[in-house]
Amino acid sequence: MIRTFLFAIFSCCFLFASHSQWTENQSPSYPELMTYLEKLDAEHKEIELYAMGPSDYGLPIYLCVINGAQDSTKTMAKARKETTILINNAIHAGEPDGINACLIWLDNWIKGGKKTKNLPVIAFIPAYNVGGMMHRGTSSRANQNGPEEYGFRGNAQNLDLNRDFIKMDSRNAFTFAKIYHALNPDVFIDTHVSNGADYQYTLTYIASMRERMAPGLGTLLYDFMIPALTSKLKDKKWDLFPYVELVGETPEKGIHAFNDLPRYAMGYAALFDALSFTIETHMLKPFPERVKATHDMIDEVIQWTDKNRMSIENERSQAANYWREQTHFRFNYELSEKKDSIRFKGFEHSFPLSEITGLPRLKYHQDRPYEKVIPHFKTYQAKDSVFVPKAFIVGAQCRDIIERLGANGIQFETLQKDSLIQLGQERVVDFKTISRPYEGHFYHSEVKTEVEKAVVQFKAGDVVVRLDQPGRNFILSTLTPQAEDSYFRWNFMDSYLQQKEYFSAYVFEDRALEILAANPWLKEELETLKATSKEFRESQNDQLYFIYKNSPYFEDHLNVLPVFILPNFQ
Ligand SMILES: [Zn+2]
Repeated sequence: MIRTFLFAIFSCCFLFASHSQWTENQSPSYPELMTYLEKLDAEHKEIELYAMGPSDYGLPIYLCVINGAQDSTKTMAKARKETTILINNAIHAGEPDGINACLIWLDNWIKGGKKTKNLPVIAFIPAYNVGGMMHRGTSSRANQNGPEEYGFRGNAQNLDLNRDFIKMDSRNAFTFAKIYHALNPDVFIDTHVSNGADYQYTLTYIASMRERMAPGLGTLLYDFMIPALTSKLKDKKWDLFPYVELVGETPEKGIHAFNDLPRYAMGYAALFDALSFTIETHMLKPFPERVKATHDMIDEVIQWTDKNRMSIENERSQAANYWREQTHFRFNYELSEKKDSIRFKGFEHSFPLSEITGLPRLKYHQDRPYEKVIPHFKTYQAKDSVFVPKAFIVGAQCRDIIERLGANGIQFETLQKDSLIQLGQERVVDFKTISRPYEGHFYHSEVKTEVEKAVVQFKAGDVVVRLDQPGRNFILSTLTPQAEDSYFRWNFMDSYLQQKEYFSAYVFEDRALEILAANPWLKEELETLKATSKEFRESQNDQLYFIYKNSPYFEDHLNVLPVFILPNFQ
């Protein structure tokens, strides 16, 4: 009796101490956070903390698992087999609500007797952007209402990690891929704090774009999970509302759904058929209120996930069947003009003259709340599509690409000997490039290619990436050059766009004469061009280059990408 009683006193003291470590308006620094979680890991066998890999800062990225199997290998195997939720915190370290929310959830769970019955495997990355966490201050989030101190948006390389899941410039992204594929989560949550307009809601969410999902999973997410979460959170006095992505300057013009490209955490998770969410609490609401809202959303997701394990597992396996049957890969999604409407709780606004500029300025009036029906654009349409090939063959020299495919669990075979293969080669005919770097890249857009039938000499070591595997959507999204987040668009193949050899006009003149004599059709085309274009007629270089380009001296592999297409009918 006495022992039990003493133990009870001890645990109460401990819990009290854990709560009082940080005031309501404080979020722990990275060292404080990890010291605290290490303590929990040491004191509770049900809480497992793993250093999963490096960050760019140098310190490790950790994973905390609840309801695992208390052994790293067995825990990851359990996560893959059973229903698992992965929560990613502080990808933007200035938005730390998820860190505090997960700590409160853990404290409550310990207080409640550490029950694992009716609990999925819960894994959370305490703070993903380690470099951002270590770059701590009080002022980088100028519009945000607390906490007192917080980290910075960029990582140690000043990258936005929430744009880095495909190009993987950071070591963080490699560690994330390792975590993600060790767990294969069914549900994924990325926690954030909003930017943008003012309105009444504390708690908003972004869910995966429905059009990018397998239909059954889309139905489960949009017609069952979100309505259930909305209703449960209503009981806790939270209005769960879609993220206020504005069409115009203020919400009255309408809001639109978010295009969750694979570069984002949520879009990445959607490639692997996770039900994925971004939680966006509103920046102008006080930190303790935002933390409570994030906590309650996470808690409701956990409870819904537990009650719907069968449907989730079933729809995820149906999704795999669905993708297998798709003959086309759709991409370059654009917002459709199709308009729905939604009831919105906002604040009246006006445009009084600014005391600084003397020009009209936008001002929201928090003392004048309203409820209005506003336009809601929530449908996307794919602008482009291609046939899904049987496989891609990637040149062994594309080490960066092959490394990323491997890191994302993509299976490939390596050619054992040099082989001559007839397939499709893809030539870039046009593209645009931004003039200032975006996330460390000169990102390409409006990519146009032509696929030519070719007999290509492959070398031992080139890799064959088949499409009949679980990572199919990752492969198609990265190796289809025109797709939004392809490795071509992120500059992984730029070197293939440059001509390496030229000619000297004074030498080539005589050779060009011989070429024209041997190819009357070419001479005819040359004469036509001279007759129709003054510019061409007056340029020696243009005319010689035209002949050069149509001769065997020209590099016929110019603009041909090192990723080849093995069609499905082979
Ligand atoms: Zn954010």
